[in-house]
This record gives sequence, structure tokens and C-alpha cells, in this order.
Amino acid sequence: MINKLLLTLTIIVVGFTFKPAAAEENTLNIYSSRHYNTDEKLYSDFTKETGIEIKRVDGKGDALIARIEQEGELAPADLFITVDAGRLWRAEQAGLFQPVESATLQDKIPANLKHPEGLWFGFSSRARVLVYNTDKIEDGVLTSYEDLADPKWKGRICVRSSGNIYNQSLLASMIAQDGEEAAKNWAKGVLDNLARKPQGGDTDQIKAVAAGVCDIALVNSYYFFRLQRSEKSEDKALVENLAIVFPDQDAAGTHVNISGAGVLKNAKNKEAAVQFLEYLTSESAQAYFANGNNEYPVVSGVAVNETVEANKDFKIQNINVRQFGEYQTQAKMIFDEIEFP
Ligand code: FE
Repeated sequence: MINKLLLTLTIIVVGFTFKPAAAEENTLNIYSSRHYNTDEKLYSDFTKETGIEIKRVDGKGDALIARIEQEGELAPADLFITVDAGRLWRAEQAGLFQPVESATLQDKIPANLKHPEGLWFGFSSRARVLVYNTDKIEDGVLTSYEDLADPKWKGRICVRSSGNIYNQSLLASMIAQDGEEAAKNWAKGVLDNLARKPQGGDTDQIKAVAAGVCDIALVNSYYFFRLQRSEKSEDKALVENLAIVFPDQDAAGTHVNISGAGVLKNAKNKEAAVQFLEYLTSESAQAYFANGNNEYPVVSGVAVNETVEANKDFKIQNINVRQFGEYQTQAKMIFDEIEFP
């Protein structure tokens, strides 16, 4: 009788011990530096479809990379979402990811927008474009990144600092395409043309063009689309006399980067993480993910808002985005050497 009671108690205790573990199997832990209001539906739809709860930690990209490194095997994170292939490369270099084999991800995501061995994948894309003041510069005058380094624009260019990953990835792509010397000369030319010492983010560069501080700026496409689509009249007014150019259409094509994600090496729930990545390539998830930040879906045939839709057909650099990481150190060294602020 006592033995039977002990056995029953043991079963109850074991049962209780295992319960949280079972619950954990049904939870996906995401660390993300990418979050927009419309992303809520992205997550809740996944939970509705699969029954897997999502726990999310939001933070800045590089800070989250440092946190995942510090937490090591104790890290509860299964998946890391961030922006810019150069930053995904940093996480890769820190040894945070594990490779994923998935026919869905292989088929649906273009080869140039993902890691060649499946360590991370792009789920939306953005272009680094020129913004100019149409009152000061005629349409068709600006066509290339090279234009930014042309002495005729001395004192008329605005760009954020070279410490920013977007500029590092752009310069890295130029090193990959045209070599280090050409990339350095370009960066020097841009430095000589700056209207002011780099300050603020991409939106601040657009504001500076609108305010007449400079006439041309280098920014990511979604910042411009965001202002165009804004319900605030002051935002719309900002871009009223501005236009964008997708550079290098008659040359190598415009620089395109990604928002992406990878499964973490210490993931407790790899299966759910892969399931989530595959879910991100579905038509509805692609639309939410891209639309959330006015980016382009990576899966073809997915419609997004009309502003993005109207600006989606352009030639892009024929280069795997991982190269932005491979040449990141060289790019930083060039910026340092020429003392680009
Ligand atoms: Fe951004």
C-alpha cells in the first residue's frame, strides 16, 4: 500500500516536472531588432496556425548579438531577427547560428538574399537610393552612386556617419564589385562633397534635403516611402519637392540589402524556429513582414502597399548579400583611413 502510494506520488512529481518542459516545446523564443505595429498580426497568425506561442525580446541589433553571446548555452532564444546582411554576418562570425536545411527556404528565397550554407535568410529587401531636391536638380541628372563623388556636387551631399552598418555594407559591395582602390576613391569623393558633418539617421538626411541644408542624400528606400505614406501632413510636405533615384540602372544595379533571420546554435526549439522561417515565406506573412517597414517581399508575386509596389521594378546589384559581411572590415578600414566621420 505504502509502495503503491509512493509510486503514485512519484508519478505525480515526475508528471509535474515534465509539464513545464512540454510547455516549452510549444514556445518559440525570438530575439528581434525589427519590430513594427503590423508585425503583431504576423506573430499571432503563426500561433493561430501552429499552436506555438511566441515569446519575443526586442532590442537593438548589435546589443542583442552581444546578449546572445553572453547568455551562451543558457540563452532562451531560438531565432534572431535583424536588419542588414552586414549585421547578420556579425552574428554569424560570433558563431551564433546553426545551418538550416529546408526545401521551402531553398526554393522561395532568391540565392543572392540568403547565406550560401543556410545560416541565415533574407525575408524582405530594401534599396539604398539617392534622394534629391527637384527644385534644385533636374530629373535624370543623377543616375549613379558615382555621382555622389563628382566634384560638381561639392558641399551639397548629406549622408549619415560611416559607423552605420548601411554605409559599411554599401562600401563593402563596391569593394566586392570594383575593388578596394575604386571604393576608396569613391568614399573620398563623397567626403569632399559633404554639406555638413554626418549626423542623425536616414530620415534626418531626407529632412536636411527638404530644408535646403543639402540637395542630395543617400538613404534606404523605406525611409522615403514611410514619409510619402505618412498620414501626417508635415511628413508629406517634407517629401513634396523630393524624388528618389535607384542608382546604377545602366551599370551594375542598385545596392539591395535585407531584413533577415537565422536559427541560433543553442536553440531549444529548432523545429519551431524552422517552422517560423518557412511561415515567413508564405504570401500573407511576406506581405506583413515587408509592409511593416515599407520593404520589398523576397518571394515573387506578393503584393504590398501601392507606394512600394510602384517602386519595385529596378535592376539590383548581382551580388550575394553575404559579401557585405566579407568586405565589412575592409570597408571600415577605408572609412577610418580617410577619416570619414
Ligand atoms: Fe533602418
